[in-house]
Amino acid sequence: MLKWLDVLKFANNGNPEPDRRVEKTDEEWKALLTPEQYRITREKGTERAHSSEMCNLFEPGRYACVCCETPLFDSEEKFQSGTGWPSFTQPIKENAVAYHKDRGFGMYRIETVCNTCDAHLGHVFQDGPPPSGLRYCINAVAMKKLETNMRKATFGGGCFWCTEAIFQRLKGVTEVKSGYSGGKVNNPTYREVTSGLTGHAEAVEITYNKDEISFEDILRIHLTTHDPTTLNRQGADRGTQYRSIIFYRNDEEREAAMSVIKEVQTAYDDMIVTDLQMFESFFEAEGYHQDYYNQNTGKPYCQIVINPKLEKFKALYADKLKLEEPA
Ligand SMILES: [Zn+2]
Repeated sequence: MLKWLDVLKFANNGNPEPDRRVEKTDEEWKALLTPEQYRITREKGTERAHSSEMCNLFEPGRYACVCCETPLFDSEEKFQSGTGWPSFTQPIKENAVAYHKDRGFGMYRIETVCNTCDAHLGHVFQDGPPPSGLRYCINAVAMKKLETNMRKATFGGGCFWCTEAIFQRLKGVTEVKSGYSGGKVNNPTYREVTSGLTGHAEAVEITYNKDEISFEDILRIHLTTHDPTTLNRQGADRGTQYRSIIFYRNDEEREAAMSVIKEVQTAYDDMIVTDLQMFESFFEAEGYHQDYYNQNTGKPYCQIVINPKLEKFKALYADKLKLEEPA
């Protein structure tokens, strides 16, 4: 992981070798780029703050140089900086971005450029979040998001230990994180969420390949492996943090959720009370909550509460299970 001292070293002593180089004349770049892309990337321009929706885009995927299409950043390292420019804590590879001293506008800053084609990207600052402490402040115009079949889905159905254990075993799901969503404060602790005062629900955020499993199937599985008819309660767990909830990221997902709820309703005598809410943020829970079932299989809660849910899931969706149990 790059730190500020590495950035200074590159800016002072020379940049790492790129995997390849792309060189074109100004005329060739002009023919390839829009005038705004040309102004920013080839003439060191800066776009207006808050001028791009890319600032608020946190879907999985990679961001490539708009000039040469070399991947520069991954959404995993993207964060909400509030500055009005897309911000990252780290480049995708150590040699993807190059650094130059910039003494323009009476400031001393470190400019970032694409190491493959020298496109101006933006600047890097030492006030980013841990662990790198870096903030790559990048013009959205200088990048293009590469298409990906990976998607994220966030939902809650009572204790996240249960939900996590189920979705870890579902084919097409590559990652499951336990955390908190739908509340009013940032980075809540488990204690705060348990108080019910922060408004968060215990939730899981899964990363899945949409070519292997659909959003609709994920919701179907979610709604049939917990009880979506009990308000703010799953079994013995009571409180708003245990509410049944689905977070949608766009209108399409909202409509999909409504139609799956309608479909699954026929399987329940009582009304489904699952809440639908626009996704805003997801905060990962403390480390000891992650991978809980696999790490604590012998504990009474896992044996008594989670095992029956897992058995139900495996019986209902045998064709959708991963071939191997997660270790
Ligand atoms: Zn480039």
